[in-house]
Amino acid sequence: MNLNSALKKPVFKCVAESSSELGVDTYVIGGFVRDHLLNRGTPQDIDIVAVGSGIELAQTVASKLPGKPQVSIFKNFGTAMLKHEGIELEFVGARRESYDRNSRKPTVENGTLEDDQRRRDFTINALAISLNKDTYGELLDPFDGITDLEKKIIRTPLEPGVTYSDDPLRMMRAVRFATQLDFEIELKSLQAIAQHKERIKIISKERIVDELHKILASEKPSNGFALLHKTELLPFILPELIALQGIEEKEGQRHKDNFWHTLEVVDNIAETTDNLWLRWAALLHDIGKAPTKKWHKKIGWTFHAHEFMGSKMVYTLFKRLRMPLNDKMKYVQKMVLMSSRPQILSEEFVTDSAVRRLVHDAGEHVDDLMTLCEADITTKNSSKQKKYKNNFKLVRQKIEEVEQRDHIRNFQPPVSGEEIMETFGIKPSREIGIIKDAIKEAILEGEIPNEYTAAKRFMMKKGKEIGLKAK
Ligand code: ATP
Ligand code: MG
Repeated sequence: MNLNSALKKPVFKCVAESSSELGVDTYVIGGFVRDHLLNRGTPQDIDIVAVGSGIELAQTVASKLPGKPQVSIFKNFGTAMLKHEGIELEFVGARRESYDRNSRKPTVENGTLEDDQRRRDFTINALAISLNKDTYGELLDPFDGITDLEKKIIRTPLEPGVTYSDDPLRMMRAVRFATQLDFEIELKSLQAIAQHKERIKIISKERIVDELHKILASEKPSNGFALLHKTELLPFILPELIALQGIEEKEGQRHKDNFWHTLEVVDNIAETTDNLWLRWAALLHDIGKAPTKKWHKKIGWTFHAHEFMGSKMVYTLFKRLRMPLNDKMKYVQKMVLMSSRPQILSEEFVTDSAVRRLVHDAGEHVDDLMTLCEADITTKNSSKQKKYKNNFKLVRQKIEEVEQRDHIRNFQPPVSGEEIMETFGIKPSREIGIIKDAIKEAILEGEIPNEYTAAKRFMMKKGKEIGLKAK
């Protein structure tokens, strides 16, 4: 098969020239070749393998490119990288690897192209295209990756047990590629992953989370989580989700399986938003249900305050996975904590003040919260489905109306602390907080509009009540 069509970028000519000057054989390999064959749009990075020194090749290429880009050299790995026209070109010398049981760091020796292809994770990632004069554009595919691309199969070049236990990150990558590309992992691979699942423990949390992000960012994330479940990797990564699995029945009362429900919610939300952190919130919105689940003779199953418990668990989970404990985490916590609020609203007669409180508490994230709640509708009963959706539509309308009138979303107190101090001639003190809170409450309850004059009048009244005198 000739793939000249993949090599249209002028940079390939430059690499070819440089390698023939250096007298080394060179190939494009990995993701670039795979994605070209799958028609997956423009690449972020291009991997080049040289049967010789990748670093030397990178330096020669850089010296020929316009602007002579800088080469970053990673001596320990024998790789080099340069940026050209927004694309990262990664150079590596062909190598043979042998692994030690306790780490993902192999012992490396120089090798042939085929040695290098053998150490790759999957057959579809081991495809190479020649950049050499005599064979320019020819596909080199010793493990028949091309058939796997056609059949949409994730398969390892070596015995799967070897590939996965050598570098257990590949287990996560298998699941991630299967999800991203909508491929199947071949049975032998699935079995090998399940067999070596414990080895995932040697992989850094950061690498695992990178893969989780990619799974969550894909079109149908549930496929990935179902695979993590099937291969029994999930308990090592997100035990909180596994704890949601199962249906219990007592005296004829059953609750839903919150694990599979959660996966449906994640797929639903993936259809409406690319916001990764909102997708995380969907994934974690019910995790508080496992530890709060209780059976009551009279009322059946309850998950009292599971949202509060869930938001606490978000912190522990982020910390364990070494995810950032920053505003992203706080956002996920907030979404989980508030995840039932719109629902409660939509079930009852909706008062303006309840809507104002929701908008005040959710602030700028009120739309995201509504998106989460809409995704949370997974009932298979179509009349219920319609009813719930319509209820949320009404809540959204109400939010719009109230917002246009009262501007609660990014609530700023209409009367400042300074003005309160000034008016009553007092220093910073508890009284100021009391008055400010009272004004806010009055606005949220609809006793006064969200505006200066009314708030000032209210301030005078409240001040008097607590024994202050205007100057
Ligand atoms: P993408 O960039 O879309 O995630 P990719 O296939 O380019 O996909 P990279 O992580 O950029 O993935 O790696 C480039 C290539 O390096 C892969 O195609 C594969 O051949 C090889 N590779 C990467 N990680 C591993 C690994 N853990 N084990 C074996 N080979 C790997
Ligand atoms: Mg890549």
